[in-house]
Amino acid sequence: MSRKKFVILVLIALVIISGLTAWWLYKSHQSTNTAPTSTPITATKPADSSVKPSTPAPANPAAVPPAPTTSSWPVNLSMAEAVSTTVVVNKKHKLPDSYVPAGLTTYGGVSLRSEAASAMTNLVNAANVSGITLKMISGYWSFASQTTIYNNYVAQDGQAAADTYSARPGFSEHQTGLAADVGSSACDLDTCFGDTAAGQWVAANAQNYGFIVRYPKGKEADTGYQYEPWHLRYLGVDTAKSVYASGKTLDQYYNVAAGGYQ
Ligand SMILES: [Zn+2]
Repeated sequence: MSRKKFVILVLIALVIISGLTAWWLYKSHQSTNTAPTSTPITATKPADSSVKPSTPAPANPAAVPPAPTTSSWPVNLSMAEAVSTTVVVNKKHKLPDSYVPAGLTTYGGVSLRSEAASAMTNLVNAANVSGITLKMISGYWSFASQTTIYNNYVAQDGQAAADTYSARPGFSEHQTGLAADVGSSACDLDTCFGDTAAGQWVAANAQNYGFIVRYPKGKEADTGYQYEPWHLRYLGVDTAKSVYASGKTLDQYYNVAAGGYQ
């Protein structure tokens, strides 16, 4: 084939290709233009109640957030819930920052709600009768003091460690005025308190005076706290006896989620 013939063939091919392209562009342009005039806009049609609305498929399924599978913690307790003597405060149920219990009174140098203070008086007196001397270590802690305490522990041991033995602000039962830490001359604020005569008396008898050992041994994963034989929680005699008899933690007794912060 001569070079001239080859050029002519290429030109013919180009003419055919551009012709086809022009025809295709013309047809597609025509169909776009004619569509709106041949079909009324559906929005102007009267609603047809027999037709179920269809859910449009998402343009990008990956961009649709997954349905929530877990609750988001914490649950923020209301003021009304915070006031209840059976309120469950734990790492998933937080007191209002501004909650201060009414009727705080002082007993043994610590501050407690009046009903807890009178129950504690009965408990300590009964222990005395059995030859047990209990001392009051702490009662009500304000949100502000809990913030200071917790932050000091975090600075000292790191947050992961601090979370195992100190509540974050708003998550401490001490803010209710219904929790008290008790001790003996032999051991304070340590698991050894559980082995003392005082600790054993408290574990066996506190419920008869309206208190429970809130963070029992072997229930660490359930409560979210290490074993604290010294931390007593006031519930009233009937409820305390019932919780004690159930063998459950307070959270389990009321079927309230507990454990860690997440
Ligand atoms: Zn405590």
